[in-house]
Amino acid sequence: MDLALPAKDYGGVDIGRRNGNAATEVVVGKYDASHASSPAEATEASGTTTGSAENDGRPALPTEKQQQQEDLLQKNIYDLSIAQNYSQSVGAAQLLRWVTEHTQLISNPPYADWRCSLTIGSTGALEQAFRMLCEGNHNGGRGDVILTEEFSFATALETARPLGIGVSGVPMDDEGLLPKAMDEILTGWTDGRKPTVLYTVPSGQNPTGATQGEQRRREIYAVCRKHDVYIIEDEPYYFLHMPPFQKQGISEKAGNAAQQDQDIDAFVQSLPPTYLSLDLDGRVMRLDSFSKNLIPGSRLGWVTASQQMVEQYLRHAECNSQGPSGLSQLIVQKLVDETWGHDGFLRWLLHLRDEYTVRRDVLLDACNRQLGVLRCSDGNAGNDALVKWTVPRAGMFLWLQVNHAAHPDASTKSVVEIEEEIYNACIDKGVLVCRGSWFRADPSKPLPGMYFRTTYAASTEENMVKGIERFGQAIRDSFRLS
Ligand code: PLP
Ligand code: PMP
Repeated sequence: MDLALPAKDYGGVDIGRRNGNAATEVVVGKYDASHASSPAEATEASGTTTGSAENDGRPALPTEKQQQQEDLLQKNIYDLSIAQNYSQSVGAAQLLRWVTEHTQLISNPPYADWRCSLTIGSTGALEQAFRMLCEGNHNGGRGDVILTEEFSFATALETARPLGIGVSGVPMDDEGLLPKAMDEILTGWTDGRKPTVLYTVPSGQNPTGATQGEQRRREIYAVCRKHDVYIIEDEPYYFLHMPPFQKQGISEKAGNAAQQDQDIDAFVQSLPPTYLSLDLDGRVMRLDSFSKNLIPGSRLGWVTASQQMVEQYLRHAECNSQGPSGLSQLIVQKLVDETWGHDGFLRWLLHLRDEYTVRRDVLLDACNRQLGVLRCSDGNAGNDALVKWTVPRAGMFLWLQVNHAAHPDASTKSVVEIEEEIYNACIDKGVLVCRGSWFRADPSKPLPGMYFRTTYAASTEENMVKGIERFGQAIRDSFRLS
């Protein structure tokens, strides 16, 4: 793919450019190494406190060591001695440059003063965003309400609640939340202040696996514009977009470099636009994470938003996480920047996407064989399929809908009671599935159906097949089919 990047003004953060493998100048905010009058001053200013007996009485490093550090700074090399020290919350200059370039390549936000900041992952970034954008109901506070999908990432819901922030779920279909329903909710809002924040997971949504196509994203953005709603776009599964399900699994790829470049181009072109790339108003904060495509234990990600929003985010980060771990940043920067570069990272993502496609297809094949044969023999559903699902287009989750109305005890037991019975039976049989009710945005509303979340992220192919067999048996037992 064409990796030529247009020149970008990074405002207070001039993060330098790479020339081939050699980084050129790196300047971070007020710590402007290029404008320092001496390398020693630049070293001091950048937070690499080598110490100087002259100015603050701290022990000086041996001259040779100090010279090494000054050399590293001048060459813009991020190394262990820098990573071990206190740094800027925005992140190490070299990794910040890389994520900014990546964001420009993938989203190219259509306004000038967008910025990135490294984060400690999307969980922490979301908590900060909620604190920035909403007022909870503690101590007589307003008690803002955010909008999200009617089934939403449980951690996000658990993040909002203790902050005193309410959550209102928007009905969904196979493509995620419904813009018309969202418009109606906002238009008819009477319960205090109208929501001003939407939290959405547009690709491979957790837990439903739903992916918003381009048209859906544009429609949702238009509703947000109409009602002046700010969008928190949490898209850790963006690069896990997969081709349609094929029973035989994906075919072997030709391995030559030219073909791979074409594949990368086609892959990136095939991805739906991010909200960030559609954002004409600066109303989007995008959360990216290395968790789902590289190393969850790195606790690293980044936010992208308008400069004003990123500034506020940083002031907050300075008072809590102080930005991500230098050691984590060092490892990731060495890999994605110095070793792979942007095209190497995209090559990795393509490989990962192919791996996930195989795993998803194994799980779907098992579902077709084990669950697709189950029919509703009781209830009002006639001979309809007892378990239904939509093929996930992205992410790592398969959301199974079980027809509650066809259960022999449907008239005497609630959805949650039957869901619990099946969940416990699954555990007895040695498989863990997540209960749909755990993800309800608004637990005071009745469940719109009985669902279970499965994943193809972690198990072996053999165990996934076994797991679905066990789930199928638990369903048969509960519905008294065997
Ligand atoms: N957002 C969503 C929608 C997720 O599904 C997850 C992980 O399950 C996260 C965020 C967590 O991301 P991180 O590891 O970057 O905190
Ligand atoms: N508390 C005190 C009293 C400190 O002096 C410092 C370091 N300046 C901190 C907290 C910050 O600690 P940490 O680096 O773990 O965020």
